[in-house]
Amino acid sequence: QRNSADKEFCALYKSVPQVKEHFVVERQIGCGTFSNVYLARLKNSSDATNPTQFALKHIFSTSHPKRVEYEIKCLKDMGGQLNVVGIDGCLRNNGEIVIIMPYVPHDKFSVLLKELTMEEIREYMRKLLQALYRVHGFNVIHRDVKPNNFLFDRETKLGGLVDFGLAQEVRTLPTTHRRTSSPNIVSSASQLPSKRVSNSNNPTPPDPKRRLKTYHRKSPLATNNNENKCDCHGKLSVCKLCLARPSPVAPRAGTSGFRPPEVLLRYPNQTTAVDIWSAGIIFLSLLSGCCPFFRPADDIDSLAQLALVFGSKRIGEVAKLLGKTFTCSTHFPGYDLRGLVTNLRPSLRPSPKKRIGSPLRGQKSPTKVQRSLRGQPSPTKAHRSPSTAGLKPTDIPDSAFELLSSMLDCNPHTRFSAIQCLNHEFFFTA
Ligand code: ADP
Ligand code: MG
Repeated sequence: QRNSADKEFCALYKSVPQVKEHFVVERQIGCGTFSNVYLARLKNSSDATNPTQFALKHIFSTSHPKRVEYEIKCLKDMGGQLNVVGIDGCLRNNGEIVIIMPYVPHDKFSVLLKELTMEEIREYMRKLLQALYRVHGFNVIHRDVKPNNFLFDRETKLGGLVDFGLAQEVRTLPTTHRRTSSPNIVSSASQLPSKRVSNSNNPTPPDPKRRLKTYHRKSPLATNNNENKCDCHGKLSVCKLCLARPSPVAPRAGTSGFRPPEVLLRYPNQTTAVDIWSAGIIFLSLLSGCCPFFRPADDIDSLAQLALVFGSKRIGEVAKLLGKTFTCSTHFPGYDLRGLVTNLRPSLRPSPKKRIGSPLRGQKSPTKVQRSLRGQPSPTKAHRSPSTAGLKPTDIPDSAFELLSSMLDCNPHTRFSAIQCLNHEFFFTA
């Protein structure tokens, strides 16, 4: 058996021979564009019956050394505390790196989605937000918050935020997510509020007018007197002049379907609020039982889906606030989140809603969410037993939707910070 395992892992052993020297690799647990992750135990472990398990992340040599260095720095600085995965060491051979981390036992997200109760969803979200509180205290945006990167064990209720491969330091001082004079670094759950703290401890949302003044920038589509006027503004086509313009430069690293409006709108001054949006999308998935919730073909499709769910006027307002222009051919009023979730949960699904138009342009087959928004039945509906869902819409308290809408606030300047979320009534109601 070991021989066949050795064959399976021979690429890993060849790239970084020290792995074979020190570890027995059990199996591969993750694979991506930039890395493979393996479950392993130490050779000659003192406790042979219950050996300590490690996750070995083999980062391919195609990754930029600066990226790898920053990923390791993040794990070293903030890992091992408050549900952020730690680091035990690194192995290096030529350009190849293996990061050694404690293995975080976890359940598959597809199982969590089906089975979690309201109380468990609360624990999941608490652990995730604590991890973000920790990371954001270092003025760092994780940038890739999604179910695959937050591991949760249903039995122990422990969680672990992994994958700092896209993490980035906040470059400008934001408003609501601003770091105060000393970094807001916490290292254990005991330093977090055990009960709600008064509003005076929360960052005060800034005056919207001031924000506008601070953040308003000229739209990249706007023309000035020296430029030729474009003739596509507000139309559903792009003229040659606009096609020739350079794209606005703003970070957009992350995963499609988890990107907030400010990333999709290429707003350059992005903050830790980016991660809160992504955590809000996970929350929406847990409540609705749908993952991925959004499955856009590209960023424009993504904006169109956000306009459908949150309302086209809202997206237009936020675009304006961020100095951008958003034009939508149809007015979409947006959805009430409780109504949307109730419609998507199998147990209390009302009879199909009237058909509504959809701006969705995605080439992929429609998701459950897209089908529901269009009033189409799910093809798998007949095979689904309503009682298998761990959660019924009536189990969800109003406070969950209040928190959800503060996390999915399209305006990044007023979106809740991690501590504001953790102080929300949702975490203090049984
Ligand atoms: P990538 O950059 O390729 O996405 P990740 O760091 O996210 O790499 O790891 C890929 C997958 O490996 C994760 O989604 C998770 O399933 C698994 N994984 C990563 N780190 C750990 C860990 N410490 N414990 C358990 N599983 C892990
Ligand atoms: Mg990952």
